[in-house]
Amino acid sequence: MKSKRHSLNPAASRTPRLGLHTGIAGGLHRSIEQAKTKGCLTWQIFSRNPRGWSARPLADTEIDLFKEHRLAAGLDPCVIHSCYLINMAATDAEIRAKSIAAFRDEVERSLAIGANYLVIHPGSARGASIAEAIATCAGSFHAATAGLERAMLDGGLRILIENTAGQGEQIGRTFGQVRQILDHCPGLPMGMCLDTAHSFAAGYDWRDQLAAAESFDELDQTVGLDNVYVVHFNDSKAPFQSRVDRHWHIGAGEIGATGLARVLNHPRLADRPFILETPQDEPGDDLRNLTAALALATR
Ligand SMILES: [Zn+2]
Ligand SMILES: [Zn+2]
Repeated sequence: MKSKRHSLNPAASRTPRLGLHTGIAGGLHRSIEQAKTKGCLTWQIFSRNPRGWSARPLADTEIDLFKEHRLAAGLDPCVIHSCYLINMAATDAEIRAKSIAAFRDEVERSLAIGANYLVIHPGSARGASIAEAIATCAGSFHAATAGLERAMLDGGLRILIENTAGQGEQIGRTFGQVRQILDHCPGLPMGMCLDTAHSFAAGYDWRDQLAAAESFDELDQTVGLDNVYVVHFNDSKAPFQSRVDRHWHIGAGEIGATGLARVLNHPRLADRPFILETPQDEPGDDLRNLTAALALATR
């Protein structure tokens, strides 16, 4: 029989599902070794060069090696971050066509390796209205996934729209805009990835208790907290409402420890993967940030 918990607060023993974005140099499986060594329970990777249009195909041997390592390491879930060049809302026909092709490749790679979530920034609406950009973005998702819907459902792969800081003409600055993109994509397994740094720079204040409660309410009433499948857990170097995307070390940025703890400890996000995308300025930064994040649990 298991021993009784003696803690007065049962939540005090909760271990959040924390992870890092780890590198794939030397093969996809190397990301798992790094994540495991650093004590992650989950992890995020790029499945290809995040700053190039073309990607070498994944060899069967590399896929097998990845799956073997994942099984042995017990990391879960597997989160893929899409290539940064992809702009599903592009008004330029050539960029949009390239984006659709590259995102289809992202979906196919994610399916091949058995990933759970594929995160993507919704894109930028140069010259178009927000509403037009949202419609274009959704149309691109349908085009990129045509014929793959069944495989995604069977494989348990979900596309997650990441909220943005709202820099330039980026869409996805508000939770309502993320909701509208999802509404335009019926029949596709989708959801949201909440990036704490982006949301803060976009105008969602996690520092103040009342403002944080309002932000959670807005998130729940638009996207729905149940549709937030992954959290990118980052502090922000950029000030509140700056619309600048600049991640920073946990607890040392503008959001700070108390604000970040509100997100980490929200009861309806308790079982979600929290992925750190914090800077690597000095050796050991990732471990320090993981430790700092763990210390915020149940704070
Ligand atoms: Zn991102
Ligand atoms: Zn992010």
